Amino acid sequence: MKPHTGQDRSTTMRWRPATRAVRGGTARSAHGETSEAIFLTSGYCYDNAGEAAARFRGEAAGMTYSRLQNPTVEMLEERIALLEGAEAARCTASGMAAMTAALMSHLSAGDHLVAGRALFGSCRVLVDTILPRFGVETTVVDGRDPAAWANAIRRNTRAFFLETPANPTLDIIDIAEVAAIGRAAGALVIVDNAFASPILQRPLELGADVVAHSATKLMDGQGRVLAGAIAGSRQWIEETLLAFTRHTGPVLSPFNAWVVLKSLETLELRVMRACANAQKVAQALEGRVRLLYPGLPSHPQHGLAMRQMAAGGTIMALWVGGGRARAHAVLDSLALIDISNNVGDSRTLMTHPASTTHASVSEEVRLAMGITEDMLRLSVGLEDPEDLIEDLDQALGRAGL
Ligand SMILES: *Cc1c(COP(=O)(O)O)cnc(C)c1O
Repeated sequence: MKPHTGQDRSTTMRWRPATRAVRGGTARSAHGETSEAIFLTSGYCYDNAGEAAARFRGEAAGMTYSRLQNPTVEMLEERIALLEGAEAARCTASGMAAMTAALMSHLSAGDHLVAGRALFGSCRVLVDTILPRFGVETTVVDGRDPAAWANAIRRNTRAFFLETPANPTLDIIDIAEVAAIGRAAGALVIVDNAFASPILQRPLELGADVVAHSATKLMDGQGRVLAGAIAGSRQWIEETLLAFTRHTGPVLSPFNAWVVLKSLETLELRVMRACANAQKVAQALEGRVRLLYPGLPSHPQHGLAMRQMAAGGTIMALWVGGGRARAHAVLDSLALIDISNNVGDSRTLMTHPASTTHASVSEEVRLAMGITEDMLRLSVGLEDPEDLIEDLDQALGRAGL
C-alpha cells in the first residue's frame, strides 16, 4: 500500500539525523513540488471496479480511504520512522491517541501492565483508571529502580510503559536496563519519548520495542497542532497496532501532518538550541531555588542522562517553597515567560503542575510522584537565554526569593 516514495531505505538509513529530518519520507507528486504537498482528501478513485476490488484485497498498491492511508500522513510517518530508527511508524490525532492505541492494541482483558509512576497526567489516568475498566491489571513502580520493574513482573505481564525524562519530575529511567528486563519477561517495552524527541534519545536503539510520541511537543515545537506517533517493528505495527487503529480511527488530519512535516525540518536546530538555553537558565537559577535539570551534575541521575541523551533536555522542575501561594506568585510575576501547561514550544512556558497538568490525579499519587504544591515546571524555548534569566530573576524576587 506504500506509494512510490522515490526513496530507498538502504539510502535513507545511511543519512544522519538532520538529513533524515529534512528529507526523510518525501514523496513528490507529478508536479515535482519542492515542499511536500497537502493531500486534503478523505477518499480515492479507481480506474475500474476490478482495481477497487484488488486494492481492497491488498493485491494492488494504492490508497483506499484516509482512515487507512493518506499521502501527506505517510510522508510524516516515514520521516518519524527514520528519525527513531524504526521499521515503521503510524501517526495519530494526538499524543494521547498514540499512547492509548499503543497500549490498547496490544493488551487484552486478563493481561498485566507495569508502568513507571512518573507519567504525563493523562497517561496516569489511562494506566490507573481506564485500562483497569477493560480488565487490564496495572502495577505502577518507581521507574528509576530496575529491581522494582523486575519484582512487578507476573505470569501475565505483557507490557512495560515508561516515560523518560518523566513529566514533570525529571526522573530518568535506564531504558537499556529496563528494556532488557521487560524483553526477558516477554513484555512489549513501550517508551513515551515526547520529552526527549529522537534528536536527544532513540529508545529503539537502547532495546525498547515501541516508541510513542506526543508530536504536539518538540516535533511541532511551535504550539500549533496536536499530533501523535507510534514507531516500532513493521510486524507489530501491521499486525497489532493497525488491527486496532484501522477500525477505531484515531487518525491525524493531513493538514496537521503537513505542519509537523515542515517542523521536523528544523527539529535538530530547535531542540539543540533549546537544550543549550535550558542549560544556561538552569545554571543561573541553581542555588537560588531547589531545581532538577538532567543536564546539571546536581541531578541525581545526571550520569545516566548524559549516557542516554545527547543533551539535558528542554525542561526543568523548580521547588520554590511556600506552597501553592508562592508558586502562583512566581507565575503571576512573570513578564516575558508565559503561564502555559504546554511544553516543547519555541516560547518559554511555565506551569504549576499540581493545579493544572496533574490536577486530575489524586493528591496521594501526586505526592508519591514528587509533585508538591510548591513545584513549578519550566519548558525552555528559543528566546535569548539572558532575557529568560532576567525574567525569572525578577519574578523570583517579587515572590520573595
Ligand atoms: C503532552 C504529552 C502527552 C500527550 O500528548 P497530547 O498530544 O497532548 O495528546 C503524552 N506524554 C507526554 C510525555 C507529554 O508531554
